[in-house]
Amino acid sequence: MLEIKNVKVEIGSKSILYDISLALKENEVMVLFGPNGSGKSTLIKAIMGFSGYEIAGGIINFNGKELNSLSIDERVQLGIGIMYQHPPKIRGVRLRQLAGFLSKDKDEIESLAEKLSLQEHLDREINLGFSGGEMKRAELFQLILQKPRLLLLDEPESGVDIENISIMGKVLSAYLKEYRAQALIITHTGYILDYVDGNKSCVMVDGHISCSGKPREIFKFIQENGYDKCRECKCPVSS
Ligand code: ADP
Ligand code: MG
Repeated sequence: MLEIKNVKVEIGSKSILYDISLALKENEVMVLFGPNGSGKSTLIKAIMGFSGYEIAGGIINFNGKELNSLSIDERVQLGIGIMYQHPPKIRGVRLRQLAGFLSKDKDEIESLAEKLSLQEHLDREINLGFSGGEMKRAELFQLILQKPRLLLLDEPESGVDIENISIMGKVLSAYLKEYRAQALIITHTGYILDYVDGNKSCVMVDGHISCSGKPREIFKFIQENGYDKCRECKCPVSS
């Protein structure tokens, strides 16, 4: 279970997140909406423990352990994994080599690569010259090989066409069900909702959670009214 209690995050001396509280149980999926610059990626990076994203107040707990003072690798050991919005290119390291570090099961690597249409890309240097779709599929591949208990997905559909979203959505959905994993998913387009049934969702505006409710209802409200109404918290589906 992920519990975020009254968390404040600062970058340098600038406050980015104010008093964020949310909770996620086993097998629950939370969808996070919000306009650009509202602090969504900052929240995910603070959960993961990226340097520079300082938790200036409050507590983040995962399965009963306080994360605040743990390093990224300790958080990964606890079962937390991230799919980057903008994955880095890694010259000199091939996708197959990294996969081999993440899983010793060659059959699992081959079968997941096939499901994600990555067979032809396994011997390429990570993300070098990859298309948007290939890069995101490779990210999901690496994440799933880690067998995370909590998946942090930062705009998994950005730069990805409908066909690739379908491939990724099916693999993600099957993983979440099989491993009863939790996920926090940031989305702008909402396409991922066609594959992953979110249990709850909330909207982040200007570093605050402004309202929460069912993912599809909130998404429809945002599509019809824009984020301004969320800013005023006039959302009728708020709960
Ligand atoms: P979102 O993901 O909702 O678009 P972010 O969390 O990326 O928003 O950014 C929230 C705010 O924090 C923005 O004003 C952004 O410029 C600022 N910010 C994020 N990362 C950094 C950083 N490394 N250094 C300085 N400011 C940052
Ligand atoms: Mg972002």
